[in-house]
Amino acid sequence: MRLYNTLTRQLEAFEPSDGNTLGLYVCGPTVYDRLHIGNVRPILVFDAFRRYVQAFHGWKAIYVQNITDVDDKLIDRANQIGESVGEVAARFTEAYFDLLRRLDVLLPDHSPKATEHIDEMVDLIKRLVERGAAYAVDGDVYFRIDSQPEYGRLSGRQLDEQEAGSRVEMSSLKENPLDFTLWKAAKPGEPSWPSPWGEGRPGWHTECVVMSRKYLGRRLDIHAGGSDLIFPHHENEIAQAQAAFDEPFFRFWLHNGMLSFQGEKMSKSLGNFAYAQDVVERYGSRTVRYFYLSRHYRKPLDYSEDGLRAAQAAVERIATLVADVDGERIEPAGEQQPLGANAAAFVDRLQALREKYVLAMEDDFNTVGAIGAVQEIVGEVNRFRATAREADRATLPQAIELVLELASPLGILAGGEPETSDASGSTEPQLVELLIELRDTLRERKLFDLADEIRDRLDGLGIAIKDTPQGALWRRVAAERQSNES
Ligand SMILES: [Zn+2]
Repeated sequence: MRLYNTLTRQLEAFEPSDGNTLGLYVCGPTVYDRLHIGNVRPILVFDAFRRYVQAFHGWKAIYVQNITDVDDKLIDRANQIGESVGEVAARFTEAYFDLLRRLDVLLPDHSPKATEHIDEMVDLIKRLVERGAAYAVDGDVYFRIDSQPEYGRLSGRQLDEQEAGSRVEMSSLKENPLDFTLWKAAKPGEPSWPSPWGEGRPGWHTECVVMSRKYLGRRLDIHAGGSDLIFPHHENEIAQAQAAFDEPFFRFWLHNGMLSFQGEKMSKSLGNFAYAQDVVERYGSRTVRYFYLSRHYRKPLDYSEDGLRAAQAAVERIATLVADVDGERIEPAGEQQPLGANAAAFVDRLQALREKYVLAMEDDFNTVGAIGAVQEIVGEVNRFRATAREADRATLPQAIELVLELASPLGILAGGEPETSDASGSTEPQLVELLIELRDTLRERKLFDLADEIRDRLDGLGIAIKDTPQGALWRRVAAERQSNES
């Protein structure tokens, strides 16, 4: 697999440093508000990445995403609405996890909160001061940029050009205007913690250094996030890690492009944004995922209702095929049964398209090419169905298996949530997921009769479970079956 590494500005061969378990750190939200739709892009891109490498490489991914639950924005928000910082953080942390579930992403293995890692951050800052890479002034602590000759390597900025172009507020307390804050002295009424420099709180850039090392250990394989984080956030993480520890920090730095709206950067401060939750409610997670993944993750993407509607139609085209073939309940072809020439050619074309999909994903996670291959398969299957002889139709279940296998990492078909028009807030999908989890546990305990009973009873309710290497997938088949019978 080749990935574009922002640090070296080139495509490089990637594999986990120990060959099978990869550490993936994706910078998480500051929980002062709900996420806007642009914030969702890294979540979906790196969820698909994680699912893909698990399914197609067999690598296990340890996924860490921090929660920034104390910072200036949170304090402002709390003051605005007359709540404590803790209350605001708790509310929007909950909203964040609710969104992750609605997006149907695999939850992070670790979601460390900044406020639960203050001691470790203080230790890191102490270490930086001891090593001459940071200095305290009047209860604040700043990182000394001049201690790092390599500063600017990730973003490709020259220090002089940064100083000239920087709108960093000139502070007479700093040795260099670019020196960044590691510890902020508390103002009255702000949340604060004790430290050798007095009461205060850590700056944002420190938490990711502490948490990534804590939860990934030596597995510092991939650090990811939006390209707006390259400077200063990621640059400042690297500077701290290099100054504090005599060992390498992350090997690969992956950055997704920004979401724009009518060509302008989408942001809360400009007011041209939509809340992610509202968009997901209207279009469903599969459509939103399709919309993002049908553009290469590094490219900028313009948000539009037209784009989402096109994604919705594309998702429906795939789902319809799967439901139709499923509804026909075709007996799959036996192993020994010889295939007719047409069917054999069909199976070969499908295999070639599977390879095309894999090649695209291996080439800097090109989900655009991968989705193209899935749609080509759908086209092939539709053509084949229209003309195939009865005996050859036994290859169709296998074709659908393939569609499921390839759609699964993208999340454009998995799960059973209704894509449209079901805004009733039904808990049915969660209940089905619950039963599937229960069934998995029963199978682990080798209670296969009970596990099979769950599957059969769900089947009786029109919910078909399919076991795949990525876990059990489910979908509703009752409606299609009935409409075929009538
Ligand atoms: Zn971060």
